[in-house]
Amino acid sequence: MPIPIHDPHQAPGGALKRLPLRKAAAWFIVAVGLCLLGLLYLQLEQSRRQDLAVAQVASSNLTRAMAQQAEDTFLAADLVMTSLVDWIQNDGYGAAQRPRLQQTFARRVQQLNQLHGIFLFDTQGQWVITSFTDLPRGNGVADREYFKYHQQNASTLAHIGPAIRSRENGEWIIPISKRVNDRAGRFQGVLLSGIKMSYFDHFFESFSLDDNGIMFIGFTNGTLLARRPFDESLIGTSLAQGQIYRELLPEASAGTAMINSVVDGVERLYGYRRLASYPLVVAAATSKDTILEGWYARAVQSSVIVALVTLGVGLFGWVFIHQVRDGERIEKNLRKAQQALEQIATHDSLTGLANRRLFERSLEIEFARGARQVSPVSLIMLDIDFFKRYNDAYGHVAGDHCLTQVAQVLMTCCQRKADLAVRYGGEEFAVLLPNTDINGALAIAGQIRRSVIDKHITHSGSPTGYLTVSLGCYSFIPSGNDSPEVFIQRADAALYQAKNAGRNRAAVFSPESDVAELMRSDR
Ligand code: GH3
Ligand code: MG
Ligand code: MG
Repeated sequence: MPIPIHDPHQAPGGALKRLPLRKAAAWFIVAVGLCLLGLLYLQLEQSRRQDLAVAQVASSNLTRAMAQQAEDTFLAADLVMTSLVDWIQNDGYGAAQRPRLQQTFARRVQQLNQLHGIFLFDTQGQWVITSFTDLPRGNGVADREYFKYHQQNASTLAHIGPAIRSRENGEWIIPISKRVNDRAGRFQGVLLSGIKMSYFDHFFESFSLDDNGIMFIGFTNGTLLARRPFDESLIGTSLAQGQIYRELLPEASAGTAMINSVVDGVERLYGYRRLASYPLVVAAATSKDTILEGWYARAVQSSVIVALVTLGVGLFGWVFIHQVRDGERIEKNLRKAQQALEQIATHDSLTGLANRRLFERSLEIEFARGARQVSPVSLIMLDIDFFKRYNDAYGHVAGDHCLTQVAQVLMTCCQRKADLAVRYGGEEFAVLLPNTDINGALAIAGQIRRSVIDKHITHSGSPTGYLTVSLGCYSFIPSGNDSPEVFIQRADAALYQAKNAGRNRAAVFSPESDVAELMRSDR
């Protein structure tokens, strides 16, 4: 095991600050979860938009087809009536013409599925000819909207009126009518053909729509002509206040829009289109729920998968975090044990001071540093005076206690971080003072000596009556190739000089003489 070197210049703790792994793992898991949720949201939102866009295209196509078919339905009836009106205008509808006209009416009704019947009314609104064999009896149609219209309007264009119930058989029909003039352009009556409402029901059914779907044909003024699902009470009512008529149609003659129904609260995608040739509007609506049916299923599927993955990541993270925590606890205990071992290996168990092993390592470092920085390194060697006698007088246990008290003095006197107090031998101590010259060393030595005296440890075997210490100081500027042994020996020689000079004093190593000579001393 490497023994840590006493290097006070190194930052405390030494090692790089560790990344808080547990916190990082927790954040990582949260981030993964959030990313997954974000991706799920983006993916679902995109596919939802896509589904709605596809539905918009489908809705637009559907209303285009509806408009085309509605236009064809009215156009066919319109064409038949135009040719009949031309005929009547040329030949009149006198008694001679009636059988042939009746046959033609009947044939046309047979040919065109959508036609309920064809009727010719005279100027008073009385039936003249119908596609049916018997003429209806009654008050005529002078009160009907279409009759009044043609009576008052010279236009020869076809007129489509609000849905009515046939006075022949009670069937719901949409009347398409034309004014009949004589050659001079005078009003001669009205030719009417009724388009069966039931035809529109089949027509609507030919398009596929969901259960919540709606289809209708209405006038541009909002009056409802035909509707799927069929609701008799709604026929002829006005849709003019609806969003399509109020907001959308004034803006564009065709389009799509998502509308929340005020009637049933269902949100539907409406496609609408105004017919090119007739004052009619067709619209078809599919409920949003139906449009997004597939999307809902996919959303549930994806959400379940993401939830499972998140759960898995979370579970893994939980296990991981727990393992990291256990690892950290073990590591902490190991570190503590290692620190304890380090303390044992480098420190003296009785006094807690550094031992010789740490002292030797520190010497190497401080010599190198001193050489680099051209700064002095000092050493104080300390020996307790008449300690043998102390042991003899008070016993070894008291002697040991005395040693710890001296050690305490050393620790309090070595204030600088770089200073190192060492238990060198039995009752011998050393103080290594980096970056300190001989004057500094001597000052500290004097301080130590006085502090020991200040402890007032009674020592009957000493001439002074209390415990004292002798100290030897040596200081030099390392050159880079110095011997630690010589360094210690010289401090030791100074100590020897202090002992010889009478103890209880500090002496500085004097190279001129190896006998006890005090160049400068602490006394
Ligand atoms: P001097 O003034 O010349 O130093 O006289 P001294 O009696 O102190 O002589 P020396 O320094 O040779 O004394 C060594 C004595 O220190 C021997 C032993 O009784 C005592 N000693 C050494 N190590 C320990 C120790 O760990 N505990 C105790 N209690 N006494 C020790
Ligand atoms: Mg000794
Ligand atoms: Mg001694």
